[in-house]
Amino acid sequence: ATIAKDAPIFVAGARGMVGSALVRRLRAGGYTKVLAPYRAELDLTQQAPVERYLAQHQPAYVFIAAAKVGGIHANNIYRADFLYQNLLIQNNLIHGAHLADVQKLMFLGSSCIYPKLAPQPIKEEYLLTGLLESTNEPYAIAKIAGIKMCEAYSAQHKREYISVMPTNLYGPNDNYDLANSHVLPALIRKAHEAKLRGDKQYVVWGSGQPLREFLYVDDLADACVFLFENQHTDTLINIGSGSDVSIGELAETVMKVVGFEGEIVFDTSKPDGTPRKLMDSSRLRKLGWAPKVTLEEGIALAYRDFMATIAKQE
Ligand code: GDP
Repeated sequence: ATIAKDAPIFVAGARGMVGSALVRRLRAGGYTKVLAPYRAELDLTQQAPVERYLAQHQPAYVFIAAAKVGGIHANNIYRADFLYQNLLIQNNLIHGAHLADVQKLMFLGSSCIYPKLAPQPIKEEYLLTGLLESTNEPYAIAKIAGIKMCEAYSAQHKREYISVMPTNLYGPNDNYDLANSHVLPALIRKAHEAKLRGDKQYVVWGSGQPLREFLYVDDLADACVFLFENQHTDTLINIGSGSDVSIGELAETVMKVVGFEGEIVFDTSKPDGTPRKLMDSSRLRKLGWAPKVTLEEGIALAYRDFMATIAKQE
């Protein structure tokens, strides 16, 4: 059965990049009761308040876009935090949803759950067929536990709890902190600041060789709402753009969008991470969904968001 436009829909993590995109997309799609509590209103790491919130609001659907996330450096350094906090958040939400008799839920993971050396493009069935990339193993282990929670509650309790695995995302409300962010927001900021300073060079971590796939976050939100509105039987679904670029090429595209003319310097003392991470999104494509925003358009939109973010801070 489809979900009524006035049914309560809970977006956990609604202030983050992914959650805020989901809220925008749901509201644009005519959903009038999107529940998007602030962290001060609901701390997702606390079991009792989460259970109370779910019992009280009785959402018809729960999107889990809440997670502790970060780039290669943050994942590698804050290993305990990434494992513990993500397990807490997802356990509270998934088990809490079940206790509150919420029948449908979508858990958002990440492409890093797949084996480091998985054949490319990566199909859903490659999960748990090999060793993980060590820089983000704690985060990946938490996310894999979340996928298995959804599968287990669906099997044992007849719930419809599904998992989606987005590729590398970027867009409005991204984290531009140079130490903890993902590559794309970091490159946008570095190129912008290099331009302002009149630098001749900008530094890109690693060899520039690793290949990554990127998806604009509004495309991700659109795919999630598509899966939420349309009948299908998949319980684990990749969401990607279908093509990848090297970090070196990405850095050049960012320079072009930002209008910085200089030279790229590769800092090979920084890790490369997984050599390639291109997902096979044919399951989703076969259901009839396709992305709309190209990488260059998306980077231009993200750069605009970055400029607006720094303007607000000044
Ligand atoms: P990953 O996809 O989990 O490896 O995470 P990231 O998005 O953080 O990094 C992707 C790739 O971009 C890695 O090979 C990084 O070494 C490289 N990279 C190049 N410059 C940067 C940077 O300034 N920040 C980050 N986070 N990664 C960078």
